[in-house]
Amino acid sequence: MKVAKFGGSSLADANQFKKVANIIKDDQNRKFIVVSAPGKRHDHDFKITDLLIQLGQAYLTNDKYKSYYITIMDRFSKIINELNVSEDLINEIDMKLKSIMESDLTDEHMLNCFKAIGEDSSAKILSAYLQTLGINAKYVNPKDAGIIVKNDINGAQILPESFNTIYELRNEDGISVIPGFFGYTKDGTLATFSRGGSDITGAIIAAGVQAELYENFTDVDSVYSVNPTIINNPKEIKVLTYREMRELSYAGFSVFHDEALIPAVKEQIPVCIKNTNNPSAPGTMIVANKEANGKCVVGIASDTGFVSIYISKFLMNRELGFGRKLFQILEEEEVSFEHAPSGIDDMSIIIRESQLPENKEKIIVERFENELEADTVTVHRNLALIMIVGEGMKETIGMAKTATAALGEAKVNIEMINQGSSEVSMMFGIKANGLHRAIKSLYYAFFE
Ligand code: ASP
Repeated sequence: MKVAKFGGSSLADANQFKKVANIIKDDQNRKFIVVSAPGKRHDHDFKITDLLIQLGQAYLTNDKYKSYYITIMDRFSKIINELNVSEDLINEIDMKLKSIMESDLTDEHMLNCFKAIGEDSSAKILSAYLQTLGINAKYVNPKDAGIIVKNDINGAQILPESFNTIYELRNEDGISVIPGFFGYTKDGTLATFSRGGSDITGAIIAAGVQAELYENFTDVDSVYSVNPTIINNPKEIKVLTYREMRELSYAGFSVFHDEALIPAVKEQIPVCIKNTNNPSAPGTMIVANKEANGKCVVGIASDTGFVSIYISKFLMNRELGFGRKLFQILEEEEVSFEHAPSGIDDMSIIIRESQLPENKEKIIVERFENELEADTVTVHRNLALIMIVGEGMKETIGMAKTATAALGEAKVNIEMINQGSSEVSMMFGIKANGLHRAIKSLYYAFFE
């Protein structure tokens, strides 16, 4: 049996719902369907989840919220009317929104309840629509599916005991349509995963029911070897390993949520990224191992918004406890770091800009100077990271040379290189303004 997850663009309007129904009809093994909230219909449109967040925030701060409410209800009403499913669903969504507003939930819980309405309504609409087509389908709430989570400020985390309950879903008749993006804590509180988290629900269900395949339907034919907004028609990737996907999604490949890999990897469920608008395209398979095909680089990923803090201190290498003190300062200031490449007398800490507002930067620099007695502490903002990813890169001679030569040709200065621990990637830190030049040059060096 297969688990198929459909993302927001696959459910953006009634026509997309129809495509999804056709895909479900096409393969009887698609027994578990996980859905996102309706996404954007065009570039200037809004995702329902974003509207729900705006609605919730406006409501909680006593700001004007009516226009969000109306836009959300209009979107759902249009889908429901065009699919010709029962109009009771419109009232149901309306009542749900009102009951959240009238509840005495904490702000955080209330916001989560608002957010979950998008996926919950998608699942109800899709199951009702499938029924009108004569398909034996039903809506299954995440609580009944057994998705029990631990709440966390960075997004809910699945509890291991959930998987046994989810396994029981195998005994269900017909098709189960499950809303993505949220679960319930042991005490019954609704909690949402991090943004884009319907992928996580899909992976949890796939691991729980021990699916033979987890299909993740989106709006591209495959995962591309590089960001298609930088390179026209880049090469498609046919097969990726879990590790390669992890590295690529870390640095900007948003086609599959990185947390969704965890349940898939644990149960070794193969994942296939497919296109709702072109379902006959084979898509990209993500698997545990793949045969070597002589091409060790599969993709080049990049992301902006990084800062580096450079610290130098003569004889740092001999100073016992230096690293511990440094990381302790970061921990005390609640700053998480991404990488820490080091030299003999120096070290750079790479941090996401969102973690380091200017006021925090000032405190950390002062603490490094005073408590670590560092000789120099300098901060560089506007950094971009580039990851060149591929199994077998480490064993291939000349990879670093090709990459650095390509960056040299593009006249891009390398601020940092990190190949250290990762078996499957090489990472370069550069100034963000050289990013497009760098990516183009690297792409031609490795793929053309
Ligand atoms: N609707 C949620 C979001 O926009 C989750 C998802 O689409 O996967 O983040």
